[in-house]
Amino acid sequence: MKTIIEPQRELPIIAAADVVVVGGGPGGLPAAIAAARSGMRVLLIERYGFLGGLATAGLVAPILGHTASNGHTPIVEGLLKEMTERMHALGGAPTWGEACQEWGVRFDAEAFKVVADRMVREANVELLLHTFATDVIVEDGAIKAVIVESKSGRQAVVGKVFIDATGDADVAFRAGAPTVQGRDFDGQGESMGSFIHIGGVAHVTEAQKAAARDNLLAAMAQGRFRFYTNGFTGTNDMHLTHFSPNMTRWPGDSTNVRTLTEAELGIREQVWKLWEFLKTQPGFEDCYIQATSPQVGPRESRQVIGDYVLTGDDVLSARKFPDAVARGSWYIDIHCPLGYTYPVHMCIIECPRQAACPYWVAEHDRTMHSINALHPPDEDWYDIPYRCLTPQKIDNLLVSGRCISATHDGMAGARVMGTCMAIGEAAGTAAALAVRDGVNPRDVDVPALRQALRDAGALV
Ligand SMILES: Cc1cc2nc3c(=O)[nH]c(=O)nc-3n(C[C@H](O)[C@H](O)[C@H](O)COP(=O)(O)OP(=O)(O)OC[C@H]3O[C@@H](n4cnc5c(N)ncnc54)[C@H](O)[C@@H]3O)c2cc1C
Repeated sequence: MKTIIEPQRELPIIAAADVVVVGGGPGGLPAAIAAARSGMRVLLIERYGFLGGLATAGLVAPILGHTASNGHTPIVEGLLKEMTERMHALGGAPTWGEACQEWGVRFDAEAFKVVADRMVREANVELLLHTFATDVIVEDGAIKAVIVESKSGRQAVVGKVFIDATGDADVAFRAGAPTVQGRDFDGQGESMGSFIHIGGVAHVTEAQKAAARDNLLAAMAQGRFRFYTNGFTGTNDMHLTHFSPNMTRWPGDSTNVRTLTEAELGIREQVWKLWEFLKTQPGFEDCYIQATSPQVGPRESRQVIGDYVLTGDDVLSARKFPDAVARGSWYIDIHCPLGYTYPVHMCIIECPRQAACPYWVAEHDRTMHSINALHPPDEDWYDIPYRCLTPQKIDNLLVSGRCISATHDGMAGARVMGTCMAIGEAAGTAAALAVRDGVNPRDVDVPALRQALRDAGALV
């Protein structure tokens, strides 16, 4: 590929803060709020015009990982509980008590957006929307500035501690912290996907839904659709008057802009093919595509290599750590990294492709998991140790959310939004302690961090 040399430029400093959080999703939003509530000057940088990350930009719902494995005992509270209660007040979520009786916290993405706005403002977080972090200036093993691009041009943001909550470890990667991507075998991460909202279906009867699902499954079996499930009647968000299924799948590297472009176009075509099909089904004559998610959702991209790497074994054995700062309960839920669709769902030993899949051939008796051994024990959870948030090589950086230090199968559990929010609250609180005590995040007093989290209502 040809290259071009950019002339050296002096950049205006647009903001200076104690704690700079890049990315306003489930990993970044609680980090910014927690750091600001701890008395820090906080800057939150987000590329979209709203907060929430995949909770809003991906229409992903419900928020999973809030209760113990296959149980109803909360394992995450703190800012997740507070947000749920505030969304409930707007009709945008059940009560916290009700949510704990369900498998996830159902919510309305618009309620999430406005509650996030209000909480950020109340905490006096300085917010820059429509701002993309593109580069980093590192001096002596520490980040001096993050370079941002926006309609205002190319500018710099300086800070004491930085939190990378981009989901893709953009900041850590550009700072030169070691990162890995995908599984060891071929570097492939879990498939991407988009949620869809299908309207005009409030009157459809259960019998009509079941018949249409059966017909869709038959069409999928003939190869007419590339969905991994026929569950198009899924109602994952707050409102039950439309369907909000999670059924699309696209493989590839979600840090490659060409792959992302293909995924957006390809998934939208699949969604409209689904609509054409549904219109022919009794009861669905009035259905319409209410929304496709503003961005295709990556399930897995870059992970930093931190001072500890969370593993699949930690998930399965519900391992506890003395430096626990968050808890997870979601299972090893690997969406086929090669993008195979129905009848393939998860990447498991029992995969129907077996000998037709190069990964299965090489790994089924080594690193693959059986469908019978994907979950932590019932009513239990695994801890997320603080060391998963401290990347190697860069001193004043923490990571939060999907890009913490974890193996392919460890992250398949820890990636859900409830866990990411708990990690975010921990990251922000830790950053504040680091600034207060004048130490690097790696050297934060972990018992004091755990106590501060407990004082804030987080469960650790
Ligand atoms: C198809 C699919 C289905 C899923 N289903 C569920 C589910 O049912 N329940 C569940 O709990 N979880 C689910 N997940 C997982 C969950 O959505 C993610 O793992 C979680 O959102 C990760 O949170 P995050 O904050 O780390 O990243 P993200 O949610 O991706 O947030 C990152 C934020 O950073 C911003 N950003 C990124 N790069 C930059 C940059 N360079 N500069 C400025 N801003 C930037 C983004 O705009 C975004 O707001 C699903 C994921 C996918 C893809």
